[in-house]
Amino acid sequence: MLVLERDQLGAGTTKGGLGGIRHQFVDELDIRMSQLATAFWRNFEDRTGSRHDFEERGYLFIANTEVGVAELRLPMPLYERMRAGVRMVSRIEIAELVPGIRVDDVFGGRFGARDGYGDPLVALAGFAAAAQLDGATFREGVAVESLLRDGDRVTGVRTGAGDVRADRVLLATGCWTAALAATAAVPVPIWPYRRSIMQSGPLPQLARIPLTIEWESGFHFRPKGAAQRFAMPNLTADGKEEKGPAGAPSAYPGEFAPLEVPASLEPWVRARAAWRHPAFVELRIVDSWSCYYEMTPDDHPIVGAVPGVAGLYIAAGFSGHGFMHAPATAQLVVEEMLDGRARTIDIGDLSLERFQSGRRPFKAAVL
Ligand SMILES: Cc1cc2nc3c(=O)[nH]c(=O)nc-3n(C[C@H](O)[C@H](O)[C@H](O)COP(=O)(O)OP(=O)(O)OC[C@H]3O[C@@H](n4cnc5c(N)ncnc54)[C@H](O)[C@@H]3O)c2cc1C
Repeated sequence: MLVLERDQLGAGTTKGGLGGIRHQFVDELDIRMSQLATAFWRNFEDRTGSRHDFEERGYLFIANTEVGVAELRLPMPLYERMRAGVRMVSRIEIAELVPGIRVDDVFGGRFGARDGYGDPLVALAGFAAAAQLDGATFREGVAVESLLRDGDRVTGVRTGAGDVRADRVLLATGCWTAALAATAAVPVPIWPYRRSIMQSGPLPQLARIPLTIEWESGFHFRPKGAAQRFAMPNLTADGKEEKGPAGAPSAYPGEFAPLEVPASLEPWVRARAAWRHPAFVELRIVDSWSCYYEMTPDDHPIVGAVPGVAGLYIAAGFSGHGFMHAPATAQLVVEEMLDGRARTIDIGDLSLERFQSGRRPFKAAVL
């Protein structure tokens, strides 16, 4: 196996993500992917020989309105059927889970004890080391310029350093996948959507709390060592919260907004954070960055064989959950590449075919 990376491993969205790992989705397939991935996260060291701490401290959603609590309750029958370890929690339990948190404006919440968070770059280093020991070759600083297509099959890739012939080519190129697939005349509806993260100075008293999310506003925070990392929705020109893009672009991949953190976000984060927890009143933001969600029209990834082009596969377009599902995605796409079909979980619904045929197996939902 040869991995070609035009920059350095992790240089894309992976270096910027929040590292959350959750089971709290509304589609059964997503929960199955989380369960498969979590089994791997729990045994990361045994499976890769490298250390990665999956901090299984849970995901806590809190709702400010009765409507919000009702929305949080809606998928509970699915979680019960899937034994996903999720329960509704009262204001009192929320205050126990996050000591000091403001709850007088909270109507209730939902907690998934098997959820938590990890570190995308540390995990990537472990995956890469294990793959290398198993014989994979990594070439950094080599960009794929185009796919080599001969009739109805892909035969390799063209790079600045020459052509590479291959029976099977997997595009795992995040929000850059549409442009690359287009070189083989394959339309792929993936586009970039900028989101941002901020990091505080040390707040060690909150080092062991769950990843906590305000359901209505989309503001969330998690410990990172002694610091806190904050994720937030985007703000529109008139100051409204925007959790996902207003719509798909007219052409793919669409516009790449510059990776600058919009100036309007920090005051918004300071205000939300100070309101939510007294420890955040004198918040010191020591770092902030932006990176791209890789969007698809239904916020679900495209994983598997490209219909009509033998030898071409895609694993991309994960919006805000590509890290958590990575061990499952890797296993399932490799099963499909080697055996013609993923056997551990049926991922037929993630095929690019759904956009070609207009089939709509998923509802869109971005955190
Ligand atoms: C703000 C934010 C918060 C997030 N939080 C979470 C979270 O809490 N939990 C979670 O699970 N996910 C989260 N995500 C999403 C997650 O980070 C991504 O889904 C995941 O990192 C995608 O990984 P990837 O390998 O598919 O893509 P990338 O990490 O983008 O990797 C694609 C790679 O392809 C390379 N490449 C592109 N074109 C070429 C070419 N032509 N030739 C060679 N190489 C090429 C790039 O250089 C890049 O390194 C978040 C994302 C953002 C933006």
